[in-house]
Amino acid sequence: MADRLPIIAGNWKMHRDHLEAIQLVQKLAYHLEGDDYAGQEVVLCPPFIALRSIQTLIQSDGLPMKLGAQTCHHEDEGAFTGEISVPMLERLDVEYVLAGHSERRAMFGETDEVVNAKVQAIRSHGLRPILCVGESLEQREAGRAEDVVTEQLRGSLAGVTVSDPHDLVVAYEPVWAIGTGKTATPDDAQQMCAAVRSELGSLLGQPTADQLRIQYGGSVKPGNIRALMAEPDVDGVLVGGASLSSEDFALIVAHRRERG
Ligand code: PEP
Repeated sequence: MADRLPIIAGNWKMHRDHLEAIQLVQKLAYHLEGDDYAGQEVVLCPPFIALRSIQTLIQSDGLPMKLGAQTCHHEDEGAFTGEISVPMLERLDVEYVLAGHSERRAMFGETDEVVNAKVQAIRSHGLRPILCVGESLEQREAGRAEDVVTEQLRGSLAGVTVSDPHDLVVAYEPVWAIGTGKTATPDDAQQMCAAVRSELGSLLGQPTADQLRIQYGGSVKPGNIRALMAEPDVDGVLVGGASLSSEDFALIVAHRRERG
């Protein structure tokens, strides 16, 4: 099996102001030991307004955590009131940017075309997209889950080339499992992540696809992390709700610890 560095990311969505954000990171760091970070990446995606505070905290305390943003605009600058560009994120040491999260697709009209422009912008500045794809319950029940995800991957990655497989992460997030408490079974997660990898093979070449990291997201908790991470094509998780609890997110990050 390819040697893929696991990646555990927390998407805080529109939760926590910059002061609460500092507290959350401090508590998380308190719960984690050096070994917990080893051999995997831990990424925090707070609201934009907390990026600067967390950047400072990570630097001053030497925390082995990386910064991610929840979205971006595809232009570098301009008259786009309320938007944040990739170069602005770069200045804050942001390494990862979510693109195409299902909430942005559903509530902010992000089409595959828009997501594609964002992925290209993120890559053009050397940051790493975490491209989110996933089917709705209706689409799953109609037996279309793989087709939907394939179409999202093709649209969102059109014209994208990847020379270093570390530079693109895909998060498979079934919409029906996000924030609902319903998790895909490890078997379902594996089947879909394998389908994602196979499509990535067609788009980017099999050697690259074998090295790319694919996350599962959707109601990941301390109680299901181990089973999900045991699946061969699940290289990490994207965590929403549980990333807002320092205890729970620490247990997710530290899932390899012996429990006794
Ligand atoms: C998410 O928002 O990406 C997510 C997976 O949320 P939750 O873990 O709350 O289902």
